[in-house]
Amino acid sequence: NLSDKLDRAFKVLKGQGSITEINVAETMKEVRKALLDADVNYKTAKAFTDTVKEKALGMNVLTSVSPGQLMIKITNDELTALMGGQTEELELKQNPTIILIAGLNGAGKTTFSGKLANYLKTKKGKKPLLIAGDVYRPAAIEQLKVLGEQIDVPVFADLNSKDPIGIAQAGIAQAKQNGNNVIIIDTAGRLAIDEQMMNEIAAVKASTNPHEILFVVDSMTGQDAVNTAKAFNNRLDFTGAVLTKLDGDTRGGAALSIKSVVNKPIKFIGTGEKMDAIDVFYPDRMASRILGMGDVVSLVERAQMQFDEKEAAELQKKIRKNKFDFNDFLSQLNQIKKMGNIKDLMGMIPGVGKAMKDVDIDDNAFKGIEAIIQSMTNQERENPELINTSRRNRIAKGSGRDLTEVNRLLKQFEDMRKMMKMFSNPATAAKMMRNMP
Ligand code: GDP
Ligand code: MG
Repeated sequence: NLSDKLDRAFKVLKGQGSITEINVAETMKEVRKALLDADVNYKTAKAFTDTVKEKALGMNVLTSVSPGQLMIKITNDELTALMGGQTEELELKQNPTIILIAGLNGAGKTTFSGKLANYLKTKKGKKPLLIAGDVYRPAAIEQLKVLGEQIDVPVFADLNSKDPIGIAQAGIAQAKQNGNNVIIIDTAGRLAIDEQMMNEIAAVKASTNPHEILFVVDSMTGQDAVNTAKAFNNRLDFTGAVLTKLDGDTRGGAALSIKSVVNKPIKFIGTGEKMDAIDVFYPDRMASRILGMGDVVSLVERAQMQFDEKEAAELQKKIRKNKFDFNDFLSQLNQIKKMGNIKDLMGMIPGVGKAMKDVDIDDNAFKGIEAIIQSMTNQERENPELINTSRRNRIAKGSGRDLTEVNRLLKQFEDMRKMMKMFSNPATAAKMMRNMP
């Protein structure tokens, strides 16, 4: 699979002292082959390897990591960027929000419609209504009804009608009456793209004005997935893609190409037949998954973030002399921030990733502290004891934070400094330990 191939490609670089133009070019040729084998389209693969090559050559090799690992890191970052960089959420502000589901037969539209309703109900506190818009197969309507019962979400259907537009509108009217704030319209597919199908779904779009149009595609269809995505996007201008059937031994090609070919984000993935087998799409996780080297990637990342020995020694000296100041404090904060999203780091640990995905960790926890320190003059940062009441007021105003917040930070900083001083003196530390109960 792709991971194995990339692994082999990177082996070319392992054990080499520096990244040279020749071994980068060789490795990238292998990477490109691996991507093409995984059904990534040629343009995407070429552009991708060119970017990685350029970055690798422009970067100094870190002393603490091998070039191979650095290449993996660059590749991982670029893969993430290629797949959109960040998670794209659904637009759910409208009441009701109308979501149209499109795609070929068997892509997983009906299953996904159920999963999405379940997700919005249980995770987002929404009150969804499902509309059975596949009028050609009575079995499809029955299928959606069964799913609706399973997840306890109402399903609007009309077995006697062959008019998807009429059904969609009647469903929307019912949703408004019953206070459903999200409407998910399941539609019919075809075995292949054809004009009649495209006309029909375009007409449903025109008559319902959906806020989201999600294009559902079977990730096992490889290069075809990209062509289908293009055809649907040309006609519907969809707002996001859904990759289904990513649970098996699936190639990653579709995920890589879709974003770059149609420039639309992937918003969800399907990872099984059950109603809870749905996940928001995380480009970084997908990149790690494709690379299959999560542990190596995090290792490289941490190596890059470690403060260098010299800086740490200097800090020690300052602490001993009680010269640790707000500038040092700020640079420590930045180091911590560079360690990145704590959640992402945790996600690298096998088994933890899934458990962490719903936990919210505030990335902006340091914003207030930073703002306050940035409002100090350099003199104040170096000599915090100068900061009297009028200075405190000025800093509070300048940083847009409460005076109490400024006071708290100064107090905490003073306490911290005392502690540091104490622990940096072995005799004092020993005495403190002895005095502990
Ligand atoms: P539709 O024709 O687009 O509505 O496709 P369906 O929702 O009926 O799904 C077609 C088949 O794919 C069904 O057997 C589903 O159970 C299966 N399926 C859908 N999504 C997934 C998925 O994420 N993983 C797996 N393994 N099977 C899926
Ligand atoms: Mg269906």
